[in-house]
Amino acid sequence: MAKIEKILYICAPFRNLERELSNNRNYNMKIKFLSLASGSSGNCYYLGTDTYGILIDAGIGVRTIKKHLKEYGLALERVLAVFVTHDHADHIKAVGTLGEKYGIPIYSTPEILTGINKNYCMTEKLSSASTRHIYKEEPIELKDFKVTAFEVPHDGTDNVGYCIEAGGRVFSFLTDLGCITPTAAKYINMANHLVIEANYDEEMLKMGPYPKHLKERITGENGHMCNRDTAEFLAENMHEELKHIWLCHLSKDNNHPELAYKTVEYILRSKGILVGKDVHLATLKRSTPSEFWEFE
Ligand SMILES: [Zn+2]
Ligand SMILES: [Zn+2]
Repeated sequence: MAKIEKILYICAPFRNLERELSNNRNYNMKIKFLSLASGSSGNCYYLGTDTYGILIDAGIGVRTIKKHLKEYGLALERVLAVFVTHDHADHIKAVGTLGEKYGIPIYSTPEILTGINKNYCMTEKLSSASTRHIYKEEPIELKDFKVTAFEVPHDGTDNVGYCIEAGGRVFSFLTDLGCITPTAAKYINMANHLVIEANYDEEMLKMGPYPKHLKERITGENGHMCNRDTAEFLAENMHEELKHIWLCHLSKDNNHPELAYKTVEYILRSKGILVGKDVHLATLKRSTPSEFWEFE
């Protein structure tokens, strides 16, 4: 018995030291963020360290993904995994090829993975060897990334956002959600870097040509976020640790990047939060890559 106690005594400080070293290493790590495409024609985000990367959604062609990654000196070979938010075509177009041809594991909830293979856009179906099941609010670790999926309200088969910790930073991705639930709010409040939907301008959607049922789908609780609702939530819930906000999934027909930006900037300012000083704000482009962001 005494012997076991002694071993535990030796092991415990060693484990602490190991954790300290790994934390130190993590905090020195550079984190890279790139949006390859964002909107109803396709969504794909890259988050990486110096060595590895992951994709959040792969709703554009593989050739385009490879081309854009290459432009920033990144290779598809360094992509460890794709994390899928839901089974709509604009988020999954390339997952069949990435999983089956390139051997990159596709992570999502069992319901989303089943839904993906039922989608009309999936010419190459995913085999079970290419998929990995994850469960909401059960974090998984993958090299330097700790990834937590969480429930968001939308009308896919199942729908998640992702909270990703890497290098001592927290990135939260909330694309395609009809409203901000307490669960969604929790992960926004944890974020240092936030990718959040600002899909439409209410007036543009109301006056625009979409049929009534589509307008109702978009504005519904399981639809999409408008500029004002996103802005008001952010203005009410801004916290000091939130440094960057990227507005994503902007509609081509019912929004303009400048309008989304100005709406959020204006509503933040009305609460005394200054864009450029208190927080950085940007809109993500629909079909071309964003700036390449690197955080020391
Ligand atoms: Zn979408
Ligand atoms: Zn969707």
